[in-house]
Amino acid sequence: MSPAALPDAPTFTDRRDAPFHGKDILSVRQFSRQDQEYVLRVAHEMRNLVARIGSFDLCRGKILANLFYEPSTRTSSSFAAAMERLGGSVISINEVRYSSVAKGESLPDTVRTLESYADVLVLRHPEVGAAAQAAHYCKKPVINAGDGVGEHPSQALIDLFTIREELERIDGLTVTLLGDLRYGRTVHSLARLLCSYKVTLRLVSPESLPMPPEICEELRAAGLSFTQHTELDEVLAATDVLYVTRVQKERFADVEAYEAVRGAYVITPETLRAAKPEMIVMHPFPRVGEISMDVDDDPRAAYFRQIEYGLYVRMALVAMVLGRA
Ligand code: ASP
Repeated sequence: MSPAALPDAPTFTDRRDAPFHGKDILSVRQFSRQDQEYVLRVAHEMRNLVARIGSFDLCRGKILANLFYEPSTRTSSSFAAAMERLGGSVISINEVRYSSVAKGESLPDTVRTLESYADVLVLRHPEVGAAAQAAHYCKKPVINAGDGVGEHPSQALIDLFTIREELERIDGLTVTLLGDLRYGRTVHSLARLLCSYKVTLRLVSPESLPMPPEICEELRAAGLSFTQHTELDEVLAATDVLYVTRVQKERFADVEAYEAVRGAYVITPETLRAAKPEMIVMHPFPRVGEISMDVDDDPRAAYFRQIEYGLYVRMALVAMVLGRA
């Protein structure tokens, strides 16, 4: 059935005054609390529409280019699925080894090429600031899908959406970020987003992998209440959201340093005995041993639902930058 035939189907007009129309999404710092509320509302609407009609033509005729210089499963495929469900199509360069990058082509030249074909560019790159550089050269909106240890704004918006959908609020919660807080870009972006809320933040990491001082400074400046720990036991019982991350192996210069910290925290059913019955466990994935598979059937394990929420948030972001939301 065409969406137009549904009584309360959305109208698919280009809204040139729509928030974020034609804008790049490079950092969560671009999003005021009002902007965040807007994304969450649009994502919720996308969730309802997908449940009701699956796919629709909101972005028909539009093309998204996925340009990934680093591995990805969820981010690349969810942006592709998001665009397909919005009725658009996708150019995928998920393995730059097989593109002209392997011949030595620069990022600006690759970006200028793809903007000739596509309406929006999604970029993952190992260097901090690469998305900003791409945006400088690209006339079409660029969405940062992870720039090295920098930021991962769409993931953080997904994380926020997950908390809101699962717990129906954000203000008043105690959020514990666990694992590699030094190199994990998702926790950098999420911590920054949480500055807009009245949350209590617990940062738990090995001593060698703390949250970068400049982000702690931002948390302080925002008046966010946070403490740093090395032991999860100290904070678990009061936690509402346990956000687990993997140690970012690819950021370590030597294997020994990585081996010394990997496996520092492993969440098991035993761990969850000390947690609140309504706590949620999140993870941006991939997990590589930080959460035992025995936890998967616990209703508190929200990480697979979080993956699904990623589709709706990325649909919202793509529609927004294309002026269709
Ligand atoms: N998938 C997330 C990222 O790209 C988390 C991770 O890789 O650990 O940052």
